[in-house]
Amino acid sequence: MSERPKLAVWKFASCDGCQLSLLDCEDELLAVAAGVEIANFAEGSTAMVDGPYDLSLVEGSITTPSDAERIQDVRRASRTLVTIGACATSGGIQALRNFADVEEFTSLVYATPEYISTLETSTAIADHVQVDFELRGCPISKQQLLEVITAFLADRRPRIPGHSVCIECKRRGTVCVTVAHGTPCLGPVTHAGCGALCPAYDRGCYGCFGPAEQPNTAALGDLLVDQGMDDMDIVRVYRTFNAAAPEFRQAGEAHER
Ligand code: SF4
Ligand code: SF4
Repeated sequence: MSERPKLAVWKFASCDGCQLSLLDCEDELLAVAAGVEIANFAEGSTAMVDGPYDLSLVEGSITTPSDAERIQDVRRASRTLVTIGACATSGGIQALRNFADVEEFTSLVYATPEYISTLETSTAIADHVQVDFELRGCPISKQQLLEVITAFLADRRPRIPGHSVCIECKRRGTVCVTVAHGTPCLGPVTHAGCGALCPAYDRGCYGCFGPAEQPNTAALGDLLVDQGMDDMDIVRVYRTFNAAAPEFRQAGEAHER
């Protein structure tokens, strides 16, 4: 029997992009496989090893009654549970339903809506079970995922900084699109992790990684108004991948009329 810790990857309501980041590790995948036994990873292999599991990576949000029960089973089967991505950590883009009437949506989208069994909200995994660590992003960064797995193997906390994207801009020497061109940018309130990708291509940050630690959304709101956005524009910039993250939800609601 293998003595390597058992790794499981679970999918809830999601697009699979975050678990794909594990396969995307390419150069590092063999080292990962040497450190852990990939015991349950439906996207990577049909071979499944029964639990319990030492490390579970959970992708996706809770949107159905059956998933609300299944996550309890996953928690019971997992020694350490890490949520990966905006869906799992904040409810994802599917949490736009939280601001609307889900019955109206299903009646418009499905020919036979009575067959649909869904919850009124899309919620983060941490709203349902205890989570040991949350890795943000849409999708997550594979370097940060490797850090989480490495930290698990070393029995320490992952070293994932909670500061904003602005710090990443400064580190890579990117000219600030807001200062230089007046381009609206969510970087000052967004969690680092993407390497400030969008500003490097002359675009403002879209907030894929969700709220940074202690984001000053009030100050950014004033700046966005100065840059020509009206209240509905500001509501919309927060209603994307992390719409239901509390800090972004409140920042949007502050501009709702
Ligand atoms: S966080 Fe983004 S990339 Fe990851 S599963 Fe959700 S939608 Fe896909
Ligand atoms: S471009 Fe955006 S993320 Fe980068 S420093 Fe300016 S405001 Fe911050």
